[in-house]
Amino acid sequence: MADFKAHLVGGVVVGSVFSAISLISFGLNIVQSFAIFTMGLLGGILPDLDSDSGKPLALISGSVSVLIPALLLSKINTISAINSTSPEFLISYFTLCYLIINYVICELIKKMTKHRGIMHSIPFSFFSAEMVYLLFSSSGKQIATMAALTIFFGCLIHLILDELNAFYFKFGFIPILNKSSGTALKLYSQDLWANFFMFCLVCGATIIIVA
Ligand SMILES: [Zn+2]
Repeated sequence: MADFKAHLVGGVVVGSVFSAISLISFGLNIVQSFAIFTMGLLGGILPDLDSDSGKPLALISGSVSVLIPALLLSKINTISAINSTSPEFLISYFTLCYLIINYVICELIKKMTKHRGIMHSIPFSFFSAEMVYLLFSSSGKQIATMAALTIFFGCLIHLILDELNAFYFKFGFIPILNKSSGTALKLYSQDLWANFFMFCLVCGATIIIVA
């Protein structure tokens, strides 16, 4: 399996290519292109969310614990009468979100997932792309499509890098597969329930997108 640094580099390459295409060919602005770049970076490490080292999970949960509450803040403004710009609200809100994401959701992910399970697969990459499409859809179809493609290819490069690392050369020239071969780039895991759950998530997200 490729190391964390190699996956970060893979994510940076995918993010850079797609943000450059967005900027030059599709006329997205600098901020939009940078958002596309971060999707590549995220895709590069996302399949290892359940890795035993905990590094990808720590990095993603750190970013998500700021990003998700910030994105939800405008929704809270529209549905509640609370003064969501007051310092007391912002301190309580961001602290609570940080604690829930880092100490409840992360612990659940660690307990419920097995490394190289369904999160390390093509369907999970596809589901991530669908989620990103929905997240960006309020900014327009073009940026949503580019962001979805970027995270999908970021994840795919991660899976390919791991698969390429699943063999070694005996005597310097005979390629020998090790036991992790075939566990990185896959369409399903050994866990039937996890496959069924992922299939439902992909179908549900597809229905929401096309509806
Ligand atoms: Zn991996």
